Amino acid sequence: MPKSPYEAFLEQVDEAVPYLKVEPEYVDMIKEPKEVLELTIPLRMDDGSVQMIKAWRSHHNNALGPYKGGVRYHPDVTRDEVVALSAWMTIKCAVIGLPYGGAKGGVRCTPSALSRGELERLSRAYALGISRFMGTDYDIPAPDVNTNPQVMAWFTDTYEKVIGKGEPSAYTGKPVEMGGSLGRSTATSRGGVLYILRETLKEMGLWGKDLTCALQGYGNVGGFAHMFCSELGLKVVGIADIEGGIYNPKGFDYAPVKEHVMKRGTVAGFPDAEPISNEDLFALDVDVVIPAALEGVITEANAGKIKAKIVLELANGPTTPEGEAVLTDKGVLVVPDVLANAGGVVVSCFEWIQGRTGDYWTEEQVNKKLDERMTQAFHEIWRLKKETGITMRQAAYVRAIGRVVAAMRFRGIWP
Ligand code: NAD
Repeated sequence: MPKSPYEAFLEQVDEAVPYLKVEPEYVDMIKEPKEVLELTIPLRMDDGSVQMIKAWRSHHNNALGPYKGGVRYHPDVTRDEVVALSAWMTIKCAVIGLPYGGAKGGVRCTPSALSRGELERLSRAYALGISRFMGTDYDIPAPDVNTNPQVMAWFTDTYEKVIGKGEPSAYTGKPVEMGGSLGRSTATSRGGVLYILRETLKEMGLWGKDLTCALQGYGNVGGFAHMFCSELGLKVVGIADIEGGIYNPKGFDYAPVKEHVMKRGTVAGFPDAEPISNEDLFALDVDVVIPAALEGVITEANAGKIKAKIVLELANGPTTPEGEAVLTDKGVLVVPDVLANAGGVVVSCFEWIQGRTGDYWTEEQVNKKLDERMTQAFHEIWRLKKETGITMRQAAYVRAIGRVVAAMRFRGIWP
């Protein structure tokens, strides 16, 4: 039976604890979310019927600062998944040194089956439902799978109407036209590929070599990951999404694939390519595999087939603990999600600062600050990994749990 995302998180904590000096009560506290709000939203459909929609917002830990994390719309989302994602946000914010704790939201729905009006009503109902459970200094939501700047605009507008005043930093990932940050939409992929993968390749002596890559997911994160791989000089030879995959050993240019996805909603059917399944994608003879879709896709069952030297986790939780053990035994470097995909929350933090101060930055300033943050975090983790011989994920958890617990000790256990 594969582990649930939350069980995977618990195991990841246990694997880091032996390398930390930390009181068991703090480990126990990190293993539990502080509070989870569950909602049932009655959604009026265009045909007059009403559907009951389940939704959650999980607050995992706020020792380092206000809760922060995206909202996911997906038909399979569960409470367990939302809690795991909120816990990973606690670790991620601490790894990168942001003044935030971890949160996550989930709405169980199939967005592609909803009309624009239904999606807006659902989004506004969710924003209303969580309005007493969030706020600029308490919990700042952002986009995740199947949510985007338009959804953040509906969330913000609803929240501002509830509280009766403008609140530009209550949500991040907003459209630039209403206070979003330049560079936010590309930040996760830019941070992961241009900065974290660049530093990884340099450390592994692969920088400047002809390298190939296989990419799963072509949404907000995967699409821009393709663009940045090309910018870094990596040839993307295989791409897959929920509808299917494409393979061409000559590599794919970004612009035509993007155009195809804009028209068809999937990479499948792209001309000049062989069809490929998601399973075969991971087994391609490439240097780098980038999962950028959902969690739990690299497991004990398929990790052995991975030929790549590096797995760059742009998705959250794409590798199960058992899958990672197989990869580590084979000498495959896993660059963990809590570091590799942190660019999104870093620029969300920049958006929050800009909204609070009214001082808006150029895209160049945003990207430069992002590069500095990501590069510094990478080297902290890399150094720890080298000094202790642990995996990058263990090093990231050691660093993050150490920071969270240091703040928890000062706060004390109260009430
Ligand atoms: P998205 O909804 O824009 O895109 C998701 C992509 O995954 C789509 O191409 C979809 O076809 C594909 N996909 C979904 N189910 C699949 C399946 N079963 N098999 C293969 N492909 C499948 O989502 P996104 O915002 O790009 O997020 C992708 C991942 O990155 C998620 O794990 C998310 O939590 C993580 N992430 C996103 C952000 C962000 O800023 N958006 C930040 C950090 C991490």
